[in-house]
Amino acid sequence: MDAHGALSDMDLRVRALESLLVEKGYIDPQALDVFIETYEHRVGPRNGARVVARAWSDPAFRTWLLDDATAAIASLGYTGRQGEHMVALENTERVHNMVVCTLCSCYPWSVLGLPLVWYKSAPYRSRVVIDPRGVLEDFGVALPDDIELRVWDSTAEIRYLVLPMRPPGTGHLDEDALAALVTRDSMIGTGLALNPNTLARETTS
Ligand code: FE
Repeated sequence: MDAHGALSDMDLRVRALESLLVEKGYIDPQALDVFIETYEHRVGPRNGARVVARAWSDPAFRTWLLDDATAAIASLGYTGRQGEHMVALENTERVHNMVVCTLCSCYPWSVLGLPLVWYKSAPYRSRVVIDPRGVLEDFGVALPDDIELRVWDSTAEIRYLVLPMRPPGTGHLDEDALAALVTRDSMIGTGLALNPNTLARETTS
């Protein structure tokens, strides 16, 4: 909806489609509301941030996550649609992982919520495969030239979660404080975890 309350063409199409599906008995509008409410407000990238913060703080959990991400993530209570078979990809000094779905928009809903427009866009889906370094630059991420970029294509069966590198100078932070440094983009590979020292400088300058 725009600032004047008018419905966009897309809103109108969605509403028309929803009415039709309800009328034909394919969907229950109340169930649909619960579903939307859940993924808009209760499931989002903060779930993934908890997973990453736990992996940074607990070596046994990190090993488990890299070995069997579905089970490790489920142990924190994050399960459900589009998170049935998760694989965690660890970023290191040598390798930086990025995630895409070249076919459509497969995405780990249970840890990141619903995918963003750019993730579903044709330019991202095609370009990240051909020119991942260029895509990173567009996102404002500069990595050393010798770091290997690996691009992983999600499917209906496998969803990826990037485990970003833990920022330096965070040894004293607890899990809550660590989780606050984990951005959604850092778990897709189009960003890095926030550096607390940079954050502090930005807020004081
Ligand atoms: Fe897909």
